[in-house]
Amino acid sequence: MPLPSSPLVDRFGRTVNYVRLSITDRCDFRCVYCMSEKMVFLPRHEILTLEEIMALAEAFVALGVLKIRVTGGEPLVRKGALGLLEKIGRLSGLRELVITTNGAQLEEMAKDLKAAGVHRINISLDSLRSERFLKLTRVGELARVLKGIEAARVMGFDGLKLNSVILRERNQDEVVDLVRYAIDRGIDISFIEEMPLGLVDGRDRALDFVSSDEILEQLRPFFDLQPSTETTGGPSRYHQVLGSKTKVGFISPHSHNFCGSCNRVRVTAEGRLLLCLGNEHSVDLKPLLRRDPFDSEALQAAIRKAMDLKPQYHEFDLKAQPVIFRHMSATGG
Ligand code: SAM
Ligand code: SF4
Repeated sequence: MPLPSSPLVDRFGRTVNYVRLSITDRCDFRCVYCMSEKMVFLPRHEILTLEEIMALAEAFVALGVLKIRVTGGEPLVRKGALGLLEKIGRLSGLRELVITTNGAQLEEMAKDLKAAGVHRINISLDSLRSERFLKLTRVGELARVLKGIEAARVMGFDGLKLNSVILRERNQDEVVDLVRYAIDRGIDISFIEEMPLGLVDGRDRALDFVSSDEILEQLRPFFDLQPSTETTGGPSRYHQVLGSKTKVGFISPHSHNFCGSCNRVRVTAEGRLLLCLGNEHSVDLKPLLRRDPFDSEALQAAIRKAMDLKPQYHEFDLKAQPVIFRHMSATGG
């Protein structure tokens, strides 16, 4: 593949070299912060085919993207996900192929994911108590996810990280246990502040909100936490747990704005390029992907032009929910 002529740069001088591709809006879980109980999913013909997703990945890498995260919905429930990952992993110029998963399929798939060239995996884990896990995910089986995490550890990926969304009164009392679990396994963990994406039923997001600073204070008496200078160019601020391999990250869209160093864009399962997680600025790439004959230069030109739409800041406000009507599962979290 030829070297990119120039990198993707937005109006604020931020270079975009990281893309998150949602390959499905469907999921085998219904996490309370992510989905409503009765989700209506997109009709299948609206979802990009595996070939269309591959064309997108090629276009982004040709435009200088170095890292692709495959996500969803639950990416591992999409038929053909492994083959797609294998093809993306072979793109020359791409430095990192990573996925985010709920872990329910990992026990069976960890080996194949490693063989497909996946470098790192983020696994969502909000509770270590089965009943609570079931309540938070509405349908998920904790034992299955824990087995999946073990299977992934055995495969020796470059990195495994747990993602925990912490909600007051629901799982806030588990933050110490979750960090201990990560330390015992030599893996990292990030705590994510809930974002107001899409309508969720039966709860008030503002009441459930727990800030990263509050979690940090909860952890301090138990762990020696040293702020780390390491950055992924993303929203996570990391602390090393001294005496362990584990880093604790905080993703804090509300309490610590991370927009100044934003290096990423997302593509939804239906092919909409989202310039910001917390804004609706977007460009529909599907018509270009479905144009006959397909024109890769036109696709690349549209992506480059879209950079002008990337907003400076997100506009999350928990009290005015929902500002953003799409769910995280449709967004490519
Ligand atoms: N299904 C996979 C999973 O759960 O890891 C990948 C997709 S999921 C949408 C990606 C991440 O977004 C998960 O770590 C999940 O906890 C997080 N997430 C979902 N809804 C969220 C919300 N409203 N606010 C903050 N994080 C959210
Ligand atoms: Fe599914 Fe992930 Fe959303 Fe949970 S957070 S419902 S696992 S997409």
